[in-house]
Formats: sequence, C-alpha cells, structure tokens
Amino acid sequence: MKKKEKVALLRCNEYDVNLIEKTLREGFELLGGDKFLRELISTGSKVLLKPNMLSIEKKESPVVTNYKLFEAVIRIIKDYSSNISFGDSPGFGDSKKAAERSGLIQVADKYGVKFDPFKESLHIKLEDSILCRSWNIAKAAYETDVLITLPKLKTHAMAYYTGAVKNQFGCVPGTQKATWHTRMPNANNFCKMLLDLNTLVKTDFAILDGIVAMEGNGPKNGNPKKMDTIIMGKSLTAVDSVAVRLIGYDNPLDTPVLKEAYDSKWGAVLPDEIEILGETIENMKPSDFKLCRKGGNFYFISPAVTNFLRKMIAPNPTLIENKCIGCGRCREVCPETPKVISMINENGKSIPRWEMSRCIRCFCCQELCPVGAIETKYSTLGKILKMDKR
Ligand code: SF4
Ligand code: SF4
Repeated sequence: MKKKEKVALLRCNEYDVNLIEKTLREGFELLGGDKFLRELISTGSKVLLKPNMLSIEKKESPVVTNYKLFEAVIRIIKDYSSNISFGDSPGFGDSKKAAERSGLIQVADKYGVKFDPFKESLHIKLEDSILCRSWNIAKAAYETDVLITLPKLKTHAMAYYTGAVKNQFGCVPGTQKATWHTRMPNANNFCKMLLDLNTLVKTDFAILDGIVAMEGNGPKNGNPKKMDTIIMGKSLTAVDSVAVRLIGYDNPLDTPVLKEAYDSKWGAVLPDEIEILGETIENMKPSDFKLCRKGGNFYFISPAVTNFLRKMIAPNPTLIENKCIGCGRCREVCPETPKVISMINENGKSIPRWEMSRCIRCFCCQELCPVGAIETKYSTLGKILKMDKR
C-alpha cells in the first residue's frame, strides 16, 4: 500500500509569537522532529520563505501572511540554516512596500533574514510538465535549496480557495502574472499551470496560516474568519486537501486545483491518501464558514459546449457602485487586450463597465480592487446549476 502523506493540523488561538513557535515545534515533532527538519534542511542549505504578500496591506490584514507567524517560523528555521531569505511579488504594487507595510521586513531585519523582491527572473523549460513548459520565474525561488511556502488560508473567486499550491504564483515576477491569466482563461488550466509551477520551483514544505483566515469575497476583499488553525506538511496538495475540507468542501475534488492534482497524479488529495496528525477536521471545522463559490466541476463531451456552459455558469465580476472610488485599478490589472473594462462617466463619477462577452473570469479586477467594490455574482442559470442561492 502507498505510504500516506503526513499533515499536522494544529490549534493556535492567537497571533502570539511564543505560542505560534510552540505550536509549530509541536507540529514538527509530530512529523518526525529534529530528524525530519535535518532532512528537510540539510547542512549549509539556502532557505527561501515565501509568504503571501498579495498586495500592500497593513500588519494585521487577513490578506497577507501574519508577521508573527513569520517570526515564529524564522525562530525555528534559524536553528537549521544561517542562510535564510524571503520574497514575493505582489499582484499589484511594489514588493518592498508590501513587505514593509505587512511588518515582514522588520521581523526579517531582526533575525538577519534577507529580502528578495523577485524582480530578477530566469527563463526555464519544464520538460515533464502537465501543461506549461516555458517559464519566466523569480531567480531566487528557482535557485534556492529549500523553498518553504507560508500561505494564508483564503477564499478565491476563480480557484475557490487559495493556499499551499496557489501561493507560488507570486514566484512569477510582477506583471507577467497577467500573461498567465490570459493564456489560461479557465480555472482548471490555470490550476494545472500552478502545479507545473510548483514542480519547477520544487516547493519543499508548507505552513498554512489559518489562525485568522478569509471567508467570502476573497482573496483580498473578504472578511476575516477566526479559525485558530495552522496546517503543515511536505505535500502541498495534502495540506490544501485538509484546508478545503475544513472550510466546507467535503469532497476536495470540488476545488479545481485538487481535481487537477488528482487527475494528473501530482500529489495526495483524497482523505485516504493523507494521515492527519494532531487535531481532527471534525474538531476544528467551523459550522459557518462562508465559501466564495460552491463546489462542482462541469465536464461535457464537446469542449465547445463545455466552454459555452462555463461562460453561462461562471460568476461575473459585479460592481458594488457605492463602494467604488473610480480609481481605475480594475481596468489597469485586467490582462485582456483590449481591456474588458472601460471607465465611463456616470453622474459626474468615473465607474467601470464590463464587456462581459470577452471576460475570461480571471477575477484579477475583483482580487485587486483596493476597496472591495467588486464581488462575484452568478447568472440565473449559474445559480440554478450551482444551486447557489446568494
Ligand atoms: S471597482 Fe474598484 S478598482 Fe475599479 S474603479 Fe472602482 S474602486 Fe477602483
Ligand atoms: S474584467 Fe476582470 S475578470 Fe474579466 S478578464 Fe478582466 S480582470 Fe479578468
């Protein structure tokens, strides 16, 4: 029988550095203790920490990996490596500003951890890819010996959920992310691309910050949700499988990333492929977590029918007019050419209008609106087929 992937599911009820450090040490103990860590980080290894810095956000924001969890991780990893750095490339704005505003750079400075803004890239070919062979990737992420990802547990309009696998999208430097959205206009192909990306950068370990997660209109404009949870493990898909079951996708295959991982045998996804150590999902599961999208994948014999129905069923980005400040960022981040969004003048106010027939539903506009003025809404047919009554 195939060996199960081990995942530590831990309870931690506040952002207190000492408490988080204690919890993480218990997690590593469950996974194999000092021996496990020495195998993960061999002597002299260069370690890169990859937090989620989606945009420029203040310290306590549930959008980004919390700086106190980041500090607790460094305290443990520095016992095994003196060559630690961290980096990310946000979806919008400057990486250094995002690292400063979130408090991560101040913590890093305290421990001599270097910052890499992921501006230098390499062109690499991935020979045994599922879908994507040719890559431009952050040099620091490709050249590190050990990559430890520190994702935030959040809902996501396109991928339903973002966690351990999706977090490495930040290894694609700056505006090149938009190109991937245009090339992979549906969630399933986008998720195949994410799996290839993780094969390329060889993500070694995940520590998922779910102490305060994000529910609803994620990954940037949802609501904070106290989950008191940290999930850690070597298998990114196993960590994500535990996380999605925790928030309410009882069948992990209802989320595109885990469906694609399962279909391509990329990693452990199903409950019987994973051994959960520490807490149980039943004990930790909130009863009222607000999902971004309901589960369920639609496949039809003809790709044309599938694409047509996807367009009819997929939710639309929809403006909450009274929140909009007319900044035009949604238009700026739209990856399509020509832009799907135009800024129009209505009653003396500049507001966005969508040409929906050309929209690929990447939800970059919803993700990066600075004031949460865009939400996702199903069409009537979408509501019926998805049985989503919102
Ligand atoms: S919807 Fe958001 S991003 Fe677009 S113009 Fe309004 S405030 Fe700016
Ligand atoms: S309008 Fe929004 S969802 Fe549609 S393609 Fe542009 S950024 Fe993506």
